[in-house]
Amino acid sequence: MNPVIPPLAGAYAGDDALLTLNSGSSSLKFALFDALDESGLPHADGLQLLLSGQIDGLGGAVRFQARSADGTLDAHEQWPAASAPADAGAALRWLIDWLRRQVPGRAVVAVGHRVVHGGLHHAEPVLLTDAVVARLQALVPLAPLHQPHNLAGVAAARQAFGAVPQVACFDTAFHRHHPFVNDCFALPRRFFDAGVRRYGFHGLSYEYIAQRLAEQHAQQHAGRVVVAHLGNGASMCALQGGRSVASTMGFSALDGLPMGTRCGQIDPGVLLYLMQHEGLDADQVADLLYKQSGLKGLSGGLSHDMRTLEAAGTPEAAQAIDYFVFRIRRELGGLAAVLQGLDAVVFTGGIGENSALIRERVLEGMGWLGIRLDAARNRAGATVISSDDSPVLCLRLPTNEEGMIAQQTLRTAALGRRPAAAAPTAPAARESR
Ligand code: AMP
Repeated sequence: MNPVIPPLAGAYAGDDALLTLNSGSSSLKFALFDALDESGLPHADGLQLLLSGQIDGLGGAVRFQARSADGTLDAHEQWPAASAPADAGAALRWLIDWLRRQVPGRAVVAVGHRVVHGGLHHAEPVLLTDAVVARLQALVPLAPLHQPHNLAGVAAARQAFGAVPQVACFDTAFHRHHPFVNDCFALPRRFFDAGVRRYGFHGLSYEYIAQRLAEQHAQQHAGRVVVAHLGNGASMCALQGGRSVASTMGFSALDGLPMGTRCGQIDPGVLLYLMQHEGLDADQVADLLYKQSGLKGLSGGLSHDMRTLEAAGTPEAAQAIDYFVFRIRRELGGLAAVLQGLDAVVFTGGIGENSALIRERVLEGMGWLGIRLDAARNRAGATVISSDDSPVLCLRLPTNEEGMIAQQTLRTAALGRRPAAAAPTAPAARESR
């Protein structure tokens, strides 16, 4: 039986809801959408976000926060260590109970999961069956720090929601049509055949941005665009005609740009040195590259958080920011060369959306590439941050990965009876992150 959950004051339209889940190592992020109208059809004007939030700190000091899209609800909760939900399963059970009380009368009719890795064969979202889960489990070695947690969320939700259709939405899927040269490493061929490839990640974010471009900037969408998803995780993607042709991330979510705590591109000789001469084993190297490096490492351990670094004013913080900016500029030039020119640049993610300083430093002096920044628009956080005479359109667009998961889930679970061609698009992005 579908868990039934309540009317959210003032927002009740139908009685069905679609739940998205993003289960990480210590957090469970969720969003609840109004999926279908009173007649059981997908809303013609797009999925309506009802509320979203997260349970984080799992395994330690657990906190919960949630907000409704209409601003009528701003909930917080904290647990004493002894009674806190210990894992994704316990967190989800608590969340279902909470939703039941908050939005009575609604039934969850589909669940969409963010799954970081879809491997070679998933270029589209997929309905979760036992066989699919087993295939995704086999990909754990390719994303050991993310995939197991994503799948723990899947297992918990399949147990909690029984026969409700559940869909895996992949960060890799959007990149699965890369040409060979952007898909391979120059290793012996058998490794490519065995799946050692440049998968690329943040695909849900890039697909969302590509949709917004198609709707709002059709000319640029049809052309050559570089999108910079700059958050705690960071990557860049080259879009040609709205399709990904290259990404700065590769086999794992470590490659490319430096991130909050991840190193980004690194000479593999450094890893050999660390193992052969510093005596680090594989786990220690993984810890170093995933958790101790990036902005945190370069700032001398000060912080992985861009806000903190921008405010710090120490030489190490400044150098961490310098390197972040340098790598983005370098990749921008490289991706523009891949695309043989540039029609638009898009900034998204927590840093891309909110840091005028980073956007300005990335784009300054890029006139040679056809980029003319309008500093006032950029500082004001406008959508268009280039000047009117800029050959390259520069945009600040909030991403919406949950909305993309919801949209893919609605389509893949084949909810409602409206023909696929009229399926709604993802809702407008959230305003802040
Ligand atoms: P995300 O992973 O997309 O949520 O992005 C998180 C990153 O965005 C963190 O490094 C934050 O410090 C950064 N961020 C959020 N707001 C701002 C802001 N106003 N200025 C600079 N960085 C920000």
